[in-house]
Amino acid sequence: MPKKATKDRKRLLANLKQVNEELDHLRNMMQGEVDVELDEGDTEIVEREKTAALITVLERRQQDIEHALRVIELGQYGICERCGGQIQKERLEVKPDATLCMTCQREVESINRRNRTPRAAPARW
Ligand SMILES: [Zn+2]
Repeated sequence: MPKKATKDRKRLLANLKQVNEELDHLRNMMQGEVDVELDEGDTEIVEREKTAALITVLERRQQDIEHALRVIELGQYGICERCGGQIQKERLEVKPDATLCMTCQREVESINRRNRTPRAAPARW
């Protein structure tokens, strides 16, 4: 494995650890808040929804990082999964779990946005 990939792998593993810890913390919070006084119910519900949303975001991030780690194992790190081009170095610095180049990421996002309205959009790739 090239040196660069080892460094990225370390960085991703550190990120993953952070995300896992945060998730543990949030999940504990969700469990701890089950006994809610009735008159506090509304705020508690809003808080729980916020926590739940954050958990979803972090779970997504966890999957992205785990995916990027697998890509490293395959020796494909830094190569766009969609067009096969190089992912910009600057992009990987900011988002080490990126497996798409900027152009493809934008395209995928706009497709996802368009597909969001009908809930079960078929995957195209
Ligand atoms: Zn691409």
